[in-house]
Formats: sequence, structure tokens, C-alpha cells
Amino acid sequence: MVGSIPHNLLNSCMSDSPPDPVDYDLKALLEAQRAYFRLGSTRSIDFRRERLKGLEAELVKRSDDLLAALASDLGKPALEAYVSEVFFSIAEIRLVVKKLSRWAKPKRVGNPFYYWPARSEVRREPYGTALIVAPWNYPVQLSLSPLVAAVAAGNTVVLKPSELAPASSTILAEIIKAAFNPQHVAVVEGGSELGKELLKHSFDYWFYTGSERVGRLYGEAAARYLAPITLELGGKCPVVVADDAPIETTVERIITTKFFNAGQTCIAPDFVLVPSHRHEAFVAAAKAALENAYADNPRENLARIVNHDHYERIRSLIPLEAIRVGEDDPEDRFLAPTLIPYSTWECPVMQEEIFGPVLPIIPYHDIDGEIGRLSRMPSPLALYLFSRRDDFLEAIAAAVPSGSVCFNDAIKQATNLELPFGGVGASGMGRYRGKAGFEAFSYQRAVTKRWFCKDPFLVKPPYGNRLGSLRKLMK
Ligand code: NAD
Repeated sequence: MVGSIPHNLLNSCMSDSPPDPVDYDLKALLEAQRAYFRLGSTRSIDFRRERLKGLEAELVKRSDDLLAALASDLGKPALEAYVSEVFFSIAEIRLVVKKLSRWAKPKRVGNPFYYWPARSEVRREPYGTALIVAPWNYPVQLSLSPLVAAVAAGNTVVLKPSELAPASSTILAEIIKAAFNPQHVAVVEGGSELGKELLKHSFDYWFYTGSERVGRLYGEAAARYLAPITLELGGKCPVVVADDAPIETTVERIITTKFFNAGQTCIAPDFVLVPSHRHEAFVAAAKAALENAYADNPRENLARIVNHDHYERIRSLIPLEAIRVGEDDPEDRFLAPTLIPYSTWECPVMQEEIFGPVLPIIPYHDIDGEIGRLSRMPSPLALYLFSRRDDFLEAIAAAVPSGSVCFNDAIKQATNLELPFGGVGASGMGRYRGKAGFEAFSYQRAVTKRWFCKDPFLVKPPYGNRLGSLRKLMK
């Protein structure tokens, strides 16, 4: 089947060494993928599962290379890298392979009696050729999770990893090349110039993860081609601590999730609201937790900031009175874990998504006033609430929209493959992960079958006075 696609097209778009971004012949690549899709090559569920198993095998084989690449790009501690990138991706593939036949099975639905005899069902169909554009902070997971979903749904895929994690991008490209033929899945490597080229092409599904500013460009491009899009964006994820939350456990959970990957996580707690009479205890516990975690061997346990621009941006947000654990090392892009104990809504650190190892703590007196403020903020990806009282938790969850909510912990809701992941409003649109990913990359096709017997309820002219009897029937 593949032989029917001109090989010169593929050779011109896929060379062995990563070419200069604009050297990709994207038109040829897209034509080759579209031809492959039209051949029906990706329709078989068995084929999709086999390809995903092949991807899993490559991931297992290259996991040490991935860990080394993630250490080189982001100084990720090996355990963090393994759990959040390699293990997570393998776990998702296994789940999808196990459940795919069930998800893809057409769902029978009923028929109105006046269509009898008829059979109707909803089928899940692939869109065609999908574009996936990934960010740098979890360069493996955030490339592979949508890719697995797109392949599971039967699409062909063009994946662009982030240029800011170049070592990971290279290994990913090698893994994909070993697991798929390029008519099915291809990686194109490069930065914003390549991104701008991609925006000129027509994809059948667009999937973008990254900043709001660039997300708008992808949104506009998808609209130009009337194509569906998932936008996975960012924002400031708030944490609200109630006066009855147990301080030690609450602090431990906030600190662990905030400083994972040096705070460069889209769903990391961004800032914490703490009742003013518990503020002192909270700050003392947070400082102790940071010291426990990072006072010895900080460089082995905390990731680096991705580049010098981001390093300087985050450092400029840190005021003199901040609590720092350890020393900064700009050469190594190591930023000491930081608490800002008396933050206010007006501080510079509260004016943008931090995306770094800096935690502002805002003492509050009036929870209703804080809820009002939170509800007027751009909707975040995640909302974290700590309390033993369900009425407290549910009242804030109802008042403050967010892509997800986690009660009494952080990030867990987003790493459960049984839950859909995504934002709302400014933090994005669409859902993926596990079944939600399969659904994102496929559309529902309504199918009705009838037989050639006489129609007892045929509506056809001349209508005569049948309206009256029809009305009686519908009463
Ligand atoms: P970014 O927008 O700078 O880059 C993302 C991708 O867009 C990269 O592949 C990049 O090469 C490409 N790109 C950049 N400029 C472009 C242009 N002009 N035209 C076309 N493509 C272009 O984002 P980032 O810095 O990699 O990611 C950080 C942001 O992403 C944060 O706001 C974070 O919260 C958000 N994020 C969201 C999620 C999520 O799942 N919702 C996950 C991770 C990161």
C-alpha cells in the first residue's frame, strides 16, 4: 500500500539529520500523509494497536537516552523525568492499547418509531492528518500523549516538539522514526520559523500546547481552514487553604507539587492564599519542607530553568524579603527554591504565570473577598482547595471556573488517565488523555441503515389532510 506513494516525496521531506527548519517540504509531507490516510491504512484497530505497541517498545528501549536528554535540556532529576515523562507515556499507551477496541466500537442508539425498520449507530471516525505542536517543559509527555491519542483514533500525525528542549526533540524524532513510517507519523524539528510555516498549511485537526500568545496564532490558522482545534494553554493556578486544613500535610503536598520540575508545570500551584492567623505556621512549615527537600544536594533534586531568558524573567519577580533555600547559579540556570511570604495581589509575581520555583503566599482575612477576586481572574487550568469541610470546597469550586479541581492535593487530577485534561476560557479548550484523547482526535459520525420494505410512515406529497391525523398521533 505504501508503495503507491512516490518515494521522492518522502525523501525530500524526511532526511537523516535534522534539517534547517524551513528546509522541510511540508507540502510533500502532507500530501504523502493524506495519500496514506486515503488508502485506509490507519482504519484497522489492530494496525493502530500494533503501531502503539511498537512505540512502547521503542520508548522502553530508549528510556535511558530520554532521561539523559531531559537532564541535558532541563536538568531534570532522573526520578522526576522517569515518572512524569517515560512512565507516564508508557502507562498511557498501555491503557489505550487495552481499551481501544471498546472505545472505537460503534454505539447503537434507538430510532423514532416512524423510521421503522431502521438501525442507527454512532461511529468514531478519524479526522485525517493532525498537527501536534508541543512545549518544552514536559517535552516527551506533552508530545506523546496527544500523539498516542491521534494514532489511536486513526489519524496520521505531524509532530513538532519544542526547539527549547533540543536533546529531547532529537531522541523523540529517532523514536518516532523507528516506530512509524513517515506517511503515518512524522516529526519535524525546529522553532518559531518552522511553526510559522506549519501555520500556512491545512491540517484536519490542530492540537497546540503552549503559551496563550502563540496559541492564538494556531487558533486563527485552524479557523481559517475551518478545522477543529485543542488549545492547551497556561495561567495562574490558585491554591486556597482553609482555616481547618492540617498544616503539615497541606504544606507537604503544595511544596512537592509546586517545585517538581522547578515549578515549570502548567498545572503547578502558582500562589497560595492562607488565612492570616495561620500564615506564620504555614510559612514556617513551608520553609522547613523546602529545607528538608533541597538543603542537601539541591542540584540533584531540582530541575534547571529552561534557558537564560526565563531564568532572568523569574529572578526579576523575586523581592528582597523572599525566603531562599540555597544559592542561585545563573551559569547552571539553577534557581534556588523561593517563598515570598508576604505577597499581595499587586506584587509583580502576581501579574503573570510564574512557571518557576517561586511560591507567593498571600495572607487573607476575608475569604469571600478572595473568592470574588479568584472568580474574576482568567480561568486557570487547575484550582487547588484544602479543607476538611465539603461546603468550603464546593462553594469555591462553584464560584471559580477552572479546567480541573483537586481537593486536598495538587496535580493528582491531571495525572489520572481516567480523567479528561484541559483548560477553560484563557487556559484553553478541548480535552484529552486516555479516552478523552481518543474522543478529541475522532469525530462522531451518525449512521442510519434502513431496508427496502414498505414505509408505513412515509412523509411524501400529496399531503392531503394528513396533518390533522399526525397531530392526533403526537398528542
Ligand atoms: P510557546 O508558545 O513559546 O511554544 C510552544 C510551541 O509553539 C513550541 O513548539 C514553539 O516552537 C511554537 N511556537 C513558538 N512561537 C511560534 C510562532 N510564532 N508560530 C508558530 N509556532 C510557534 O510555549 P512554551 O514556552 O513552550 O510553553 C509555556 C506555556 O505553555 C506556559 O504558559 C504553560 O502554562 C503552557 N503549558 C500548558 C500546558 C497544558 O497542558 N495546558 C502544558 C505545558 C505548558
